[in-house]
Amino acid sequence: MATQETVEHKYVYDFAEGNKELKDLLGGKGANLAEMTNLGLPVPPGFTITTEACQAYLTTGREPDGLAGQIEAHLESLEREMGRRLGDPGDPLLVSVRSGAKFSMPGMMETVLNVGLNDRSVIGLSTQAGGNDRFAWDSYRRLIQMFGKTVCEVPGEEFEHALDEAKHAKGTRNDLDLDADDLRGLVDAYKKIFAKHTGREFPQEPREQLDLAIRAVFDSWNAERAILYRRQERIPADLGTAVNVVSMVFGNLGPDSGTGVAFTRDPGSGAQGIYGDYLANAQGEDVVAGIRNTVPLQELEQLDKRSYDELLGIMARLEEHYKDLCDIEFTIERGKLWMLQTRVGKRTAAAAFVIAGQLVDEGLIDLDEALHRVNGAQLAQLMFPRFQLDHDVPPVAKGIGASPGAASGKVVFTSARAVELAAEGESVILVRRETNPDDLNGMIAAKGILTSRGGKTSHAAVVARGMGKTCVSGADELEVNVPAKKFTVGGHTVGEGDVVSIDGTTGKVYLGEVPVMPSEVVQYFEGSLDPEHIDNPLVRAVHRIMTHADAARRLRVRTNADTGADAARARRFGAEGIGLCRTEHMFLGDRRELVERLILAAGAQEREDALAALLPLQRADFVEIFREMDGLPVTVRLIDPPLHEFLPPLEQLAVNVAVAQERGEDVAKEEALLSAVRRMHEENPMLGLRGVRLGLVIPGLFAMQVRAIAEAAVAVTRDGGTACPEIMVPLVGAVQELETVRAEAEKIIAEVVGDSGVEVLIGTMIEVPRAALTAGQIAEAAEFFSFGTNDLTQMAWGFSRDDVEGAFFWRYLELGIFGISPFESIDADGVGRLVRIAAEEGRAARPGLKLGVCGEHGGDPDSVHFFHEVGLDYVSCSPFRVPVARLEAGRAAISTTGSDSR
Ligand code: PEP
Ligand code: MG
Repeated sequence: MATQETVEHKYVYDFAEGNKELKDLLGGKGANLAEMTNLGLPVPPGFTITTEACQAYLTTGREPDGLAGQIEAHLESLEREMGRRLGDPGDPLLVSVRSGAKFSMPGMMETVLNVGLNDRSVIGLSTQAGGNDRFAWDSYRRLIQMFGKTVCEVPGEEFEHALDEAKHAKGTRNDLDLDADDLRGLVDAYKKIFAKHTGREFPQEPREQLDLAIRAVFDSWNAERAILYRRQERIPADLGTAVNVVSMVFGNLGPDSGTGVAFTRDPGSGAQGIYGDYLANAQGEDVVAGIRNTVPLQELEQLDKRSYDELLGIMARLEEHYKDLCDIEFTIERGKLWMLQTRVGKRTAAAAFVIAGQLVDEGLIDLDEALHRVNGAQLAQLMFPRFQLDHDVPPVAKGIGASPGAASGKVVFTSARAVELAAEGESVILVRRETNPDDLNGMIAAKGILTSRGGKTSHAAVVARGMGKTCVSGADELEVNVPAKKFTVGGHTVGEGDVVSIDGTTGKVYLGEVPVMPSEVVQYFEGSLDPEHIDNPLVRAVHRIMTHADAARRLRVRTNADTGADAARARRFGAEGIGLCRTEHMFLGDRRELVERLILAAGAQEREDALAALLPLQRADFVEIFREMDGLPVTVRLIDPPLHEFLPPLEQLAVNVAVAQERGEDVAKEEALLSAVRRMHEENPMLGLRGVRLGLVIPGLFAMQVRAIAEAAVAVTRDGGTACPEIMVPLVGAVQELETVRAEAEKIIAEVVGDSGVEVLIGTMIEVPRAALTAGQIAEAAEFFSFGTNDLTQMAWGFSRDDVEGAFFWRYLELGIFGISPFESIDADGVGRLVRIAAEEGRAARPGLKLGVCGEHGGDPDSVHFFHEVGLDYVSCSPFRVPVARLEAGRAAISTTGSDSR
């Protein structure tokens, strides 16, 4: 009988066993330490406990079976390799216990250094360090401090207070002036603090220290700040962290030791060179704590040329290996260099493009990979105006860059004041502790919004992004006092009317006005910067990557534009036609009066007169647009919104009539208007008489529009141009609606077009769920579909698109009901499913059916990938987003792997 052997699940990996692809399992830090180990770089030996062990611990509340034994086995082999035992009194091995999740969560989770020190091994450490008592006692007091704070929740201030007292007693402000005796005394004080708060002595058993530290790192995954950070960065909550147990190396052993961080290129601009900071005779946490000022990495060359040269060699090697910008942490222990961490470094949007371009030049990556490494959100950021780079105004606070852009203006504290000052032509920044739906008017009036509370999904952030308004949220250094109309920050008091500037990309807040400059990338898209002839590495890189995206993409990119000017701008930005020309905007302004006549017409004659007066005006609009889009398709949508939108508001009209009556004036006309407005009043106008329903109810309205389109196309063609009109019927839910409009339109088109050669397509929007579900039938009467994902989202979710984002979306985001507003990014599971069904069934009924999207989602990066995958022919978006959509369509076409560009 075969023996049944249970294979124990593997929870612990030696550094030599892992590699950089194992981030899911070993976390970013662990996977990269393993990679460096296998490259033969000097990494202090150690092992990684997997994220799976953490997940198991977090779900069951205890370490999984087998973990303790595996840790023991790996510790033993580490001890053998190092020739020392953990906490050995004579010659101790010390380890650090470091968190490391799949996605970097800087400073969010815990680390404990010097594990293995106790009352006896501290003496052994001193011997190891050549009799350096001071170093040994300093290391011990650091362990008690970190362990106390992280593992046992002893308030950190108590340790800091004791340290301050020790320095005070010595008459110094510098840690380095404390000698071995002072530090020994401090260890006693720390132990007392520890015992007072935990009710037990500081654990002397090294293995117990290790186990407790590992457990504390697991627990830190669910610390409040980590949860908040994950929510903001949209990092899944169930990944867990790995734990790295690494043999200690010391940067604080004297002047020939030190610690530093470095980037292989400038993460701000992407420029090549050496970027880093070094701090002699210090440990990593001293750099973070800012205890002493670091020096530029270049100075290490004078201090320790051998280590410096070795470090530069390693950095070059890492770049070549990772084929990307790397950031690193290192320590030098008595002239011996150790690599403590590396990872592909975070960078600004500008650096992302510049570096991708450079790496192509250096032959490290190809253009597909360069395209993969940038994204539409970065490109969009580069298209916002920003503060001048060389301004020397220091920020007074830093919050969260919640909605990009740069804005300066006078501070106001209430929505009402924002509205008042804006009406006087002032730029204002609305400052609140946090915003709520009552602040909406003020947010609309303000240039920018600044809050002291709340993250990227707070009310302020979500609403500001929806409005495309600059917003910094959660600037918690600000003490905002709304009743007193002031805020204080870093010793400054800022009152109503004082000027501040906020940067919605970096989250920085400045006092006074900071000069703003236009985006070079927009200038390039506008055609005023020639990428071949200017010495701007960013513009050159953008040009190169965009050119590649255009060559790679399958999706066409059109624009939503209602005027010749918008059409022209979008064309410069690369639009390949118009996917949505909303004609209702053409009925506003001085044409309102004609529309009123149309709506109030007493009989057929009056209505026909009004339509006849509108016809030449509409025709002229279309001529202008067809000219700007010469040779490219233009989808003109017949009128869509409820007609009362063109009439004065009911309340205002009622008041006017009452006042005029009181004065004894002749109010016959106003009364007629009032009764028409009352008649047309709808409780749910978005679900009422609009779109195709209007066309079927008001005789001649659609016919006039169709005639204007056809006549304009013929006129442009006769002048030597090429007009390619596509007439689109909105809000269709049943094929019969479309058939009725089509029959009438075809007659008019045939009559107008004659033998001019103009071809006019007729299609429909798919924006009512019923249309999506009966797309096979509707396709029989449509040459194209354009998905109106704004209405489709509204009707699929039952969310009023005009109200919900300000009213309660912030709460839905907070609760994680969705990660992003479904009006911003397509809800692939629900609304997207309707799109998929309609695309498939529409094409099955009519092969070659043209498919596009013209809702807001057409310019949203994630949604563009979805539309590519569903097989649409084009996306259409506002002119400013055309470059973003081009880039993302290119990325979608080349993306074969789902690799994340976080
Ligand atoms: C839509 O509903 O997605 C659409 C494009 O139409 P509108 O936004 O004009 O309703
Ligand atoms: Mg719509």
